Amino acid sequence: MLILISDSFDAALPGRLKKYGEVTDDHGRLAEAEVVLIRSKTKVNKEYIDSAPKMKLVIRGGVGLDNVDTPYAKSKGIQVFNTADASTVAVAELAFGLMIALPNQITRADSTMRQQNWAKKELKRTELYGKTLGILGIGKIGSALATRAKAFGMRVIAYDPYVFFSDAAQIMPTMDEVLAQSDYLSLHMPLTDLTKGMINKANIAKMKDGVRIINTGRGKCVIEEDLAEALKSSKVAGYATDVWYSDPPDWNCLLLNAPNTVFAPHIGAETKENMGRIGVIVDALIGQYVSAKK
Ligand code: NAD
Repeated sequence: MLILISDSFDAALPGRLKKYGEVTDDHGRLAEAEVVLIRSKTKVNKEYIDSAPKMKLVIRGGVGLDNVDTPYAKSKGIQVFNTADASTVAVAELAFGLMIALPNQITRADSTMRQQNWAKKELKRTELYGKTLGILGIGKIGSALATRAKAFGMRVIAYDPYVFFSDAAQIMPTMDEVLAQSDYLSLHMPLTDLTKGMINKANIAKMKDGVRIINTGRGKCVIEEDLAEALKSSKVAGYATDVWYSDPPDWNCLLLNAPNTVFAPHIGAETKENMGRIGVIVDALIGQYVSAKK
């Protein structure tokens, strides 16, 4: 059995998986691979699947499966899994880090110091304490962020069309109510036909003036043009994002030049601990696949 590690995983993973067969990171051997391990970079679309006739199992190390044509894979008898639970803490901590960086001017304070500019008077801060955090998508990561925010004295509300009760947040019946009440808005829904472009001009108009938005979900859930415009007019007082239209983004994209922003290069899942957890789950899933074949 050939296992192709197509994207970047924990360095210890190839050694760990040797017990199941040959392990390679040579993309040229896709046609021979029975198991393919991906993260967000490899796009398992129709063309990819058609060029992998022996492929029986695809494991996405991470959460979103929007880079896999799951229905087509299933029609070809290919099993598709993700490692859904592994990344929760890693992403929630980054979302919290981005949320705290915005009102505390952390990136600006650092860059002005490096320019030998003592900006003590210009760098105005505000506190998270007592503010309302609205969460769109109160699943695993949204709930983990809510717990952290409550520890900082924030009021936490959420909208999720599939969640009606939660210990983590007060569930609002409509998204509009969350948009209207939030001082901070954090995006944790998957990319779907419904969520694509959800943060657009019309929905931004429903938000509080001076709202700050944090996105560790998916870049395409926002319309970058509309958000850049709202940042320029200060309707939105800050946007911190880990996710983009593409990895890397178009370096000329409007958001990169918009004011009051904090950026990260899609590192939400990239903690040492998470890479270890993903390795454990990948090992177990391949183990189950191998046992089921016997
Ligand atoms: P999850 O499935 O536990 O939670 C997602 C929640 O979104 C669910 O409760 C679902 O009901 C809700 N949802 C679906 N459609 C919605 C809608 N229209 N409006 C509001 N909520 C909606 O997943 P999770 O583990 O919490 O991950 C959430 C997302 O985070 C993933 O789908 C992925 O896009 C993103 N993610 C990003 C990184 C990163 O590196 N930045 C890493 C992991 C996951």
